[in-house]
Amino acid sequence: MQQLEALTREARALASGSYPVIPILSVNETEVGRQMTICNSCRYCEGFCAVFPAMTRRLEFGKADINYLANLCHNCGACLHACQYAPPHEFAVNVPQAMAKVRVETYADYAWPAALGALYKRNGLTLSLALVAGLALFLMLAAGLQGSLFHASAGGNFYSIFPHNLMVGLFAPIFLFAVLSLSLGVRRFWMDVSPGTATAAAMGDAADKVLRLKFLDGGHGEGCNNANDSFTLARRRYHHFTFYGFMLCFAATSVATLYHYLFGWEAPYGLTSLPKLLGIAGGVSLLIGTVGLFVLNLSRHPLQGDAAQKPMDRGFISLLFLTAASGLTLMLSRGTPILGLTLCVHLGAVMALFATLPYGKFAHGIFRSAALLKWAIEKRQPNSLQLGDD
Ligand code: SF4
Ligand code: SF4
Repeated sequence: MQQLEALTREARALASGSYPVIPILSVNETEVGRQMTICNSCRYCEGFCAVFPAMTRRLEFGKADINYLANLCHNCGACLHACQYAPPHEFAVNVPQAMAKVRVETYADYAWPAALGALYKRNGLTLSLALVAGLALFLMLAAGLQGSLFHASAGGNFYSIFPHNLMVGLFAPIFLFAVLSLSLGVRRFWMDVSPGTATAAAMGDAADKVLRLKFLDGGHGEGCNNANDSFTLARRRYHHFTFYGFMLCFAATSVATLYHYLFGWEAPYGLTSLPKLLGIAGGVSLLIGTVGLFVLNLSRHPLQGDAAQKPMDRGFISLLFLTAASGLTLMLSRGTPILGLTLCVHLGAVMALFATLPYGKFAHGIFRSAALLKWAIEKRQPNSLQLGDD
């Protein structure tokens, strides 16, 4: 009789909506929860990165905790190579791999619009199709507008091939959509991980960790693991080349936009102009960074990370490389008959990059930055467990 009453109470609570809804964990999230429970007893890796101090503030790992920890992990591999419980041990602890599997789930789960989250699952194909579509669009436009792909415009003026307003009309909506999509996705993630209030100190701390890629130093400054258990700073350095190269290219485009709209100074700009100097420095930096990251990715230890995500990683690196290489080639092909063709390749690559920004590897930088901010906030709060701290 008592059991029946209890069941009736639960049924009423469910029907009224007052029953607490506990998010169901995916298989990968359950695996991270299992491994974090083992790590929480061991704590050998506490000094390696922010994941372990954040873990010690928890005794249980709900969905939001696991998503947060997964995005806090930089996949440096240090805890895999240091772990006495890593495979072939029966505990099979492989934190970087488990975190990587959950990370890509978070990108898909928080994607906006939700239906496009599926693009993460076949990201290599998505990137390829976007690139083909981008190239086809500009090749057809060039052929239609100029009657030929081999067009050497006077003074290297791109706008004589594609008018300025046409380029703005094509790129602005795609870029703004990418910004909107990433912003809404990371906002939902942020709401779920219940971050608390971001003080200036916390934001400064997080920005410092992001800009220095602090947690690719292995916790001891000698670097992370890549092919084996020896440390290397190469991954951190090539990440820096890539990140700052991307930012310099973005700065070049932004300055050129200001020149155009504020001062009426139209492209093409001279070799010593600010947009050109920023673009050249950014392009060269991107080339160095992407080649380095690609080589490191090829030699990555098979137990590190998630093999299923390699097409996404390599596809994104390759697209960045193509964007940089075609941009620099474009500059060198001024006044030659291949200018039109080079311009089509560059614009097609940039279009594919912008279109896939919210549904590919680029998202890791945004979500990881949010997780680092959460950690910067959290570690400034009292630890209710009093078991460990940063
Ligand atoms: S990864 Fe292994 S060594 Fe490190 S804390 Fe977890 S169980 Fe311990
Ligand atoms: S792989 Fe590196 S960043 Fe990730 S949890 Fe292990 S030590 Fe931390």
